[in-house]
Amino acid sequence: MKCQRCDERSVIELRHCNAAYCSTCFVERCRERVQGTIRRHRMIRPGERVLVAVSGGKDSLALWDLLLDLGYEADGVYLGLGIGGYSNRSGACAREFAEGRGARLIEIDLERDVGFTIPQAAPVRRAPCSACGTSKRYLLNKVALDHGYDVLATGHNLDDEAAVLFGNVMTWNLPYLARQRPVLPERTGFVRRVKPLVRLTERETAAYCVIRRLDYIIEECPMAAGNRHLVYKELLNSLEERAPGAKATFLRGFSDRLSPLLDEIAEEERESVGVCSGCGAPTTEDLCAFCRLRDQATHPARGGRRPPSRRRSG
Ligand code: SF4
Ligand code: ZN
Repeated sequence: MKCQRCDERSVIELRHCNAAYCSTCFVERCRERVQGTIRRHRMIRPGERVLVAVSGGKDSLALWDLLLDLGYEADGVYLGLGIGGYSNRSGACAREFAEGRGARLIEIDLERDVGFTIPQAAPVRRAPCSACGTSKRYLLNKVALDHGYDVLATGHNLDDEAAVLFGNVMTWNLPYLARQRPVLPERTGFVRRVKPLVRLTERETAAYCVIRRLDYIIEECPMAAGNRHLVYKELLNSLEERAPGAKATFLRGFSDRLSPLLDEIAEEERESVGVCSGCGAPTTEDLCAFCRLRDQATHPARGGRRPPSRRRSG
């Protein structure tokens, strides 16, 4: 099959958009898609400093590479989660990329800098991913604020977003649906968060890394077992097999039609935020979710200090 842009032999066929590309045109198309997404959603303004959340995986390394090639001032931040050899190998991929590109990589080690690892913080009998997600949201935002970045960019791709949307629809979680956007604007205590890869699939980011010869960690996190997000991904993949383009249509329909109707809920969420008595971060509780997690992880015998209500906090 030939590349649909230049007639060279194609190296990748994309069934969801009925197209095939050679390696040069594919990389060019990835750049155009990401630049188009950034412009459409006004993710990054001229002169702004971007911090890329880098896990060492294909999505975050592809994102960092694309932003640098598009001319953005983009540094990286890597969080060492303390998940044994997996964390060592993913950290090595992040460092190798930074060295190769001469880019700045800020490193935070959960055990050294915060006093616990994700395995230690994982609540008994529950998947550790909620503890991990809370830590990432809090610490990545904090690093961005502390170092004066304007924007925090994450490598969520089309498959990730479709799976999250599927999960939120399954439970009709309106506050979560209201918050699921390619851009979360800056506000007191939060930098702007953006997802420039929302129009690229997981397969496309993997192909991009292979073509660009970016070494990324291929193995799955050993703590992912039981993660419902992966189950939703599998379900959507089998749907996509039968109906190519189904994931993109699902996500686009939500962004274009439903998401704007949830603006009021998103606004109410933003207005109900107070200040954490432990760390001063924005929260809807007395103690923010991260302070509670840290208390439970570092003082498990005490059960940590607990807030009076059960509302979710930032
Ligand atoms: Fe964290 Fe879960 Fe992802 Fe592992 S699979 S890195 S524990 S969110
Ligand atoms: Zn706090």
